[in-house]
Amino acid sequence: MTILDIVTYPDKSLAQPSEKITDIDETLKTLIEDMADTMFEAPGAGLAAVQVGVSKQLIVINTTEEGQENSYMALINPEIVEADGEFISEDEGCLSVPEFRATVKRFNRVKVTALDVDGNPMELNEEGFPAVVLQHEIDHLKGVLFINRISALKREMYKRKVKKWMKGR
Ligand SMILES: [Zn+2]
Repeated sequence: MTILDIVTYPDKSLAQPSEKITDIDETLKTLIEDMADTMFEAPGAGLAAVQVGVSKQLIVINTTEEGQENSYMALINPEIVEADGEFISEDEGCLSVPEFRATVKRFNRVKVTALDVDGNPMELNEEGFPAVVLQHEIDHLKGVLFINRISALKREMYKRKVKKWMKGR
């Protein structure tokens, strides 16, 4: 089991779009397993490769049911192909944005296409919270954080808080 370091805001790499994956090799499979371990350990609902310093279009989603063994899904080159409705995501948080939560307006339903770990095309249709997790993680691959989707005022408050921490170090 390998726990990877999580990159946190304001690291500039989090604002960069990730590259499409062309080779699904052993290195990538190891990365997927390490990302899953890191997500379970945190714990988090999902994790994007850019959050562990790898700028590739890869996300893992926590599919563990309460009281059950840990399980996850990996999505390579995921893309939202359909989205509708509105979902108010309350208390949304991010492992890369510590000590901050906010309400974010999301789509209620999304259809996502991706490749699985064996390179086979897959399609997901999710609604509500699982749809929010997919939108949040796929945003990471575009260099978008949830704090880019809240009011400028709230974002400034968080930025000031981070600046204070960094001075205190
Ligand atoms: Zn996040």
